[in-house]
Amino acid sequence: MSDSGLGFSLKRFITLIVSIAIFVLLFEGASQLGGGLIKAQVEQTTSKFHPEKNAEDRLKPSMVLATEVTIENSVEEISDAIAANWTAEGSCQQVIEGNDMLQFNLKEMVVSASCAEVTVTLKHTGAMPANVMGHNWVLTNNTDFMPVAQAGGAAGLDNNYIPVGDQRVLAATTVIGGGQETSVTFSIESLVAGDDYTFFCSFPGHYAIMQGAFKVI
Ligand code: ZN
Repeated sequence: MSDSGLGFSLKRFITLIVSIAIFVLLFEGASQLGGGLIKAQVEQTTSKFHPEKNAEDRLKPSMVLATEVTIENSVEEISDAIAANWTAEGSCQQVIEGNDMLQFNLKEMVVSASCAEVTVTLKHTGAMPANVMGHNWVLTNNTDFMPVAQAGGAAGLDNNYIPVGDQRVLAATTVIGGGQETSVTFSIESLVAGDDYTFFCSFPGHYAIMQGAFKVI
């Protein structure tokens, strides 16, 4: 009874040990498989096992930094270029363009106080006729800008939308249509360096958009 009982117990013990062994082996195998899968994932998603990928990853921030530096440089270069291109003498000859989209290509014009005369050339780069999309270039001081623009609009195309004999008009071109060009040469003796002046197109309604600052420095 006790032998049988011991034998039975030994069998159960051996079975238990074998079961544990199989279980451990299976677990090991599963762990290795799992580990292998994880390792594969790691290899795919990180650069640790791919020196060339690592290099690429490390390059990215440098490239972004390099791009930013390039942009800063280019802005500086543009500023430098403008500063280098601006000359007191050269500023006496100004060229500005108007188009069919109711736009001047400049928001600011800067001339030197040393200019004996300033010539402003207006080019209409559009195609629409003067009675539909006409442009001119008119100069007043800032406070006269609005009233002169409104009076100009009422003066009609025959008067180039300029109020006749108006002393507030410091300079003005004729009204032109698409493909045409006009210019005006005027003395800036009466203009004061540092004061604010406005240039604009006095074609009815255009002055709201087609305007900019005229500076004498
Ligand atoms: Zn206009």
